[in-house]
Amino acid sequence: MANEGTSSSRFEEEEEELGELYGAESGWVEARSSCDHLASLASDLVHIPPPDSPCFRCHHPAENWLCLSCKEVLCSRFINKHMLNHHQETGHCLALSFSDLSVWCFACEAYLDVQLIQQLQPVYEAAHLLKFGQRPPFRSLDGVELCSLQNKGGSAKS
Ligand SMILES: [Zn+2]
Ligand SMILES: [Zn+2]
Ligand SMILES: [Zn+2]
Repeated sequence: MANEGTSSSRFEEEEEELGELYGAESGWVEARSSCDHLASLASDLVHIPPPDSPCFRCHHPAENWLCLSCKEVLCSRFINKHMLNHHQETGHCLALSFSDLSVWCFACEAYLDVQLIQQLQPVYEAAHLLKFGQRPPFRSLDGVELCSLQNKGGSAKS
């Protein structure tokens, strides 16, 4: 008698309820969760110029962008377009805004979600640390327990 009841394939589905940690209510424009140009990131992006660095070309003092390929600080398209020119001249397409720490890809023409793209997190953290004196509040990939239910205070406004 062949015992054919052995088709017990196990599917262990562990569904953790982490779904809505970062709700879409933050009001930011759609940021991409991937980008084909991350290979152009500089290798040591933990060392970056301070966020109040002036534009390397015109010395505009504020709201500049950091080129994530060569770490030049350049002004925005609303000032003298030096970051945009830099992209056109060099092909460097990834830039971090020192005004709100968002990352823009000129090639994708889109913002990139620093919370979802692991390669961007070191420079985001570095910039956040320089700008605000502390690391950013989110932790997504460090294995930190996201659902510690002890603080049910619900004080999660940002
Ligand atoms: Zn891109
Ligand atoms: Zn400039
Ligand atoms: Zn560059």
